[in-house]
Amino acid sequence: MTRVVHKFGGSSLSSASRYQAVAQIILGHCKSGDCVVVSAAGKTTNTLVKLWQSYQQQDQQAFSDVLIQLEKHQSELVDELFSGDVHRALKAQLDAELVAITQLAQQSELQESPLLAHGELWSARLLAHYLNELKVAARSIDARQLFTLHDAQLLHQQNKATCYAQLQDAVVYVVTGFIAQDCDKNTVTLGRNGSDYSATLLASYIDASAVSIWTDTQGVYSTDPRKVSNALKYPKVCRAQANLLARLGNPVLHAKTLSPLKGSNIKLQVRSSYEPEASPTEIVKEGYSKAKRFITTFENLDLVRVENLAKGEVRTLSQLIQHSIHHFIVNGEAYLLLPATFTHIVAQQLAGRINIVESNLQGCALVASSSELSGLKQQAEQLFHDREVVVRFAHQDSDYALFLTDQALDSDLLAVLHDKLINKGREIAVIIAGIGNVGDVFLQQCEQQITRLQSQFDLKVVGLLRSKEMVFSPSGIELSAWQTQWKNEAQSYNSKSLVEHISELDYEHKVVIDITASEAFSLLYPDFVASDCHLISANKYAGTADRGWYQSLREQQRERNLHWRYNTSVGAGLPINFALADLQNSGDVITSIEGVFSGTLSWLCSSFTADQKFSDLVLAAQEMGYTEPDPREDLSGRDMQRKLLILARDLGLELDVDDIALEPLMPVHLAEGSWDDFLAKRDELDTFYAVKYQQADDEGKSLRYTGQLIISDSGTVTAKVGIAFAEAGSAIANLTPGDNIFVIKSVWYEQNPLVIQGPGAGKEVTAAGIHSDLYWLTQQLK
Ligand code: ADP
Ligand code: ASP
Ligand code: MG
Repeated sequence: MTRVVHKFGGSSLSSASRYQAVAQIILGHCKSGDCVVVSAAGKTTNTLVKLWQSYQQQDQQAFSDVLIQLEKHQSELVDELFSGDVHRALKAQLDAELVAITQLAQQSELQESPLLAHGELWSARLLAHYLNELKVAARSIDARQLFTLHDAQLLHQQNKATCYAQLQDAVVYVVTGFIAQDCDKNTVTLGRNGSDYSATLLASYIDASAVSIWTDTQGVYSTDPRKVSNALKYPKVCRAQANLLARLGNPVLHAKTLSPLKGSNIKLQVRSSYEPEASPTEIVKEGYSKAKRFITTFENLDLVRVENLAKGEVRTLSQLIQHSIHHFIVNGEAYLLLPATFTHIVAQQLAGRINIVESNLQGCALVASSSELSGLKQQAEQLFHDREVVVRFAHQDSDYALFLTDQALDSDLLAVLHDKLINKGREIAVIIAGIGNVGDVFLQQCEQQITRLQSQFDLKVVGLLRSKEMVFSPSGIELSAWQTQWKNEAQSYNSKSLVEHISELDYEHKVVIDITASEAFSLLYPDFVASDCHLISANKYAGTADRGWYQSLREQQRERNLHWRYNTSVGAGLPINFALADLQNSGDVITSIEGVFSGTLSWLCSSFTADQKFSDLVLAAQEMGYTEPDPREDLSGRDMQRKLLILARDLGLELDVDDIALEPLMPVHLAEGSWDDFLAKRDELDTFYAVKYQQADDEGKSLRYTGQLIISDSGTVTAKVGIAFAEAGSAIANLTPGDNIFVIKSVWYEQNPLVIQGPGAGKEVTAAGIHSDLYWLTQQLK
């Protein structure tokens, strides 16, 4: 049985209504055997720390004030969540515990860790009882029974065996975060914010498949979203960066959270208990996400230099003050960043070995990939200088830079820093494959579009590709002069070198725009996706590839949060894919799609008159460039068959191209042989067409070449492409030569169908359709 560990932090349990919301999440996400790790409700641990401090200072008034505060908060929770016997029992238990605390204090026997443990014990107890009230089999567990340390080291093997033995029943276990015990059964705490660590430890002990850290933000952001409203939520953050953020004191994850996951495949995500449906941040293994940019802030820190800092000493100190301590080395000397309130404790501990370099510092750390860090650091320095913020100490490591300042960085300053350094990270690298016909027009329209999108995204065209040559420039190609750059710099490439170039691009987002008609190029899509590229295709091959390949591509895209837009693969710029998606997203059910999806066949059938030979018309179309080089490619109907398949897959139907019946617009045997062979037998085409035309005419109808997809009430699908006789006066019969038409019937559009009609080919409309895809892609990335 694979189990999942869910952790709810104090911010998720701050009030009775939050307990109720958390219980609902558990109902929706937990099965029996899963574990729920809880922190103390709201700021309870802070209040308990205050209680401890007033006890140490022997300030009785403060002690009793704080105790009353605790009692009030816990009583309110019990009152609002429970009634009857359960309420009475929980109230009595709470009272007894508070009396015990007072007595221990009076006898001078109060101890810090057992006192702090109350916060987690209370929340586990309340949540388990509340779940029982909802008829969920749940049991609270005191983690001191599960996690034992010896000499400040967790006894992993023993703990694992204990967890296995104790967590066997078919219930949801509600486990206290933050606390453990030593071999003498004394309470030990795991450091502030330590419940995250409890959750991953427990997950490693019970071989869980995943850990969800539920908190009050939707995930890990580029900076504290409470301070900067346009902070970016990252769908993925690699473990190394999450770890670094934690070491820098960022509260979203505790510093040790990731250590139990080392070498395991346990998934970790951070998600919102306030908006459980929002997409989370996944903390992924190295190599599964590129380095992101972050700003994390500091308040009230002292910077100290320590002589002869021993290995493991920072851990001991951090255990002592219950806070993570960031440390670094400059010129062989060890520096610590300490919360100012604890400096005296550390100074006592390190007797004589500590020099205070700067005190009462504020500031921030900038986290980014090593390749961009120096540049960003310079920009930050300039900004501090412009804003007259005094930087008292700066330090740069390989993947972060520290700025320790006099004044606190208020939200305004942080927002400016974020806009300049991080939002700039909203860079999109665009690779355009196929710069002939449509591609050329697309490029002409590009500059204007890029300017239009500039306030949200910084788009750079970094690659231009033809079948054998490319220009690749990671910092961006000057669009007004791309032809010159092409002449001077185009070099040959192969698939391997192309994929390598793309995977090395250090951009927030990448998109490959495929305007080729090349099947070979479409086969590279999985490699592009593996390099975290979004896709925009005018090319139909990938969308109509065999189901196994297609579905695995889709799956890969889903896993990596990547988008694929292909609006122009059917009907050029006509918004057919939009309409289908929109109807379905609004709850409609589509029952049929019928239409003409080939500009060439539309032109041929709608222009034909009885006094003509069909083959003359075909040759005229060929002459005008309306057909494929070999017009039999159009007459075969295969192009429309592929387009119908793309539409069918948009409706969620699992079809392959061969599931769509195909009747060509010519006698089948004319497909064989050379073009000249065909020309020699063109009479056969003319007779074939004339007969069909006459049959239609006899019935008072018009000969058209259409695609049709029908989904019956029972779900049976019929799909075919072929000759059809359109009712006189119908939209398909009246089609303007060359136009495409889509006639959509649905539950809402049953009698009077929704019709989308217009030019379904042509370089301007196709290029514009690709720009539309690019625009919508950027909106999806926001
Ligand atoms: P919990 O009580 O769930 O453990 P914490 O208060 O410890 O939650 O941590 C979540 C808080 O971290 C958020 O409310 C947010 O204000 C803060 N925070 C700071 N930086 C970030 C960041 N980069 N991404 C998300 N949250 C952040
Ligand atoms: N309650 C503890 C704290 O406030 C542990 C935690 O919340 O993770 O630090
Ligand atoms: Mg926390």
